[in-house]
Amino acid sequence: MQTSTEVRQLCDQIRRFIRAEVDPRSREIEESDAVPEDLIDKARELGLFGLTIPEEYGGIGLDLAGKCAVEEEMGKTNYGFATLIGNHTGISTAGIVALGNADQKRKYLPRMATGEWIGAFALTEPQAGSDPAGLRTRAVRKGDRYVLDGEKIYITNAGLANVFTVMAITDPAKGIKGISAFIIERDFKGFSIGRNELKMGMHGCTTAPLAFEECEVPAENLLGGEGLGYVQAMKTLTAGRVTVSARCLGMMDKLIAQCVEYMKVRTQGGKKLAEHQGLQWMLADMSVARDAARGLTYRAIETLLRGERGTMEASAAKLFSTEALGRVVDAAVQIHGGMGYMREMGIETTYRDARIVRIYEGTSEIQRNIIAGQLLKEP
Ligand SMILES: Cc1cc2nc3c(=O)[nH]c(=O)nc-3n(C[C@H](O)[C@H](O)[C@H](O)COP(=O)(O)OP(=O)(O)OC[C@H]3O[C@@H](n4cnc5c(N)ncnc54)[C@H](O)[C@@H]3O)c2cc1C
Repeated sequence: MQTSTEVRQLCDQIRRFIRAEVDPRSREIEESDAVPEDLIDKARELGLFGLTIPEEYGGIGLDLAGKCAVEEEMGKTNYGFATLIGNHTGISTAGIVALGNADQKRKYLPRMATGEWIGAFALTEPQAGSDPAGLRTRAVRKGDRYVLDGEKIYITNAGLANVFTVMAITDPAKGIKGISAFIIERDFKGFSIGRNELKMGMHGCTTAPLAFEECEVPAENLLGGEGLGYVQAMKTLTAGRVTVSARCLGMMDKLIAQCVEYMKVRTQGGKKLAEHQGLQWMLADMSVARDAARGLTYRAIETLLRGERGTMEASAAKLFSTEALGRVVDAAVQIHGGMGYMREMGIETTYRDARIVRIYEGTSEIQRNIIAGQLLKEP
């Protein structure tokens, strides 16, 4: 599926699904910190887990532009639900789609496309967050298997996932070229998943640590050959940053619409909020920030779709969109006054959810490092 008409129809379908099925359950997800299984089943029926998986493996085969169009829609609903799906259809399947051989694709992708198997992407470690090249998880080849030892932290979807793309060192002497990617199944011997973290936001989407203690991985689960793991992880994160950026656009669209609506109905001192110039200016700034973020996001999508590396464009989009979202959601709380601080409006939830986007898939500081690094590298 690639034509813009098909993608638009898909987005319409997702919008209807969100309104009918996800939005009414948002408070339940928020308070229980879990996405109900029946809602996951409905997402499976709609094909949401297969959005980016090639059609020959049972998915819908969206490219980055299509994936980002969906992310914009998903940004308007419960953030935990959106992240569960977005992570699976993004960084958690990308490695297998890009590097998997025919056997690996045949084994994993059809079941990931239906959502029978949910994916996770495991790079971060206690000593390797902003600097993932410093990871320590070790994979040693022993006959027809690798033995993994180490740990990962903050892994999205870990509580539900069956298939993990895990980066580990196969050759310590080679630096980042000695890092490889493996497909790890939930029930592999020596692999365990820790307890779900309690988080500020992103409720409903699990985040947990992983432990590898002499974890035995069949050699055929190496992705793409030894030494390709780090480079693929960076490519995956580059595209991932653009999709995070796209989701921020949807979140800002919704917040601005909520503010416009509220300003038109709420009266204070005999005037509608909409008549206060101070609030009008806040609204204007929100809109300009959102539009500028959209421009940077679409530029990054186009750059990557042209086959260019797009590292700088992706970082610029993520940096600007995530920081713009922070300003927009803060202003949205302010425009709603006390009501903005109350749970019932949902803006308070978005305020907490929005904080993560400046941290995961590379913090704002790391995006700045990448952009400056690229500028200084140019002749
Ligand atoms: C909810 C959640 C979900 C996540 N999901 C996943 C996942 O699915 N898979 C996965 O692999 N990881 C995941 N992560 C990890 C995430 O990508 C890292 O938390 C992030 O990259 C930051 O690493 P850190 O937490 O170790 O912070 P640190 O690296 O310790 O950074 C602390 C502070 O120092 C700054 N800093 C660090 N280095 C530099 C530098 N060189 N220059 C300037 N400033 C610097 C940072 O910007 C930050 O402000 C998740 C994290 C969270 C919180």
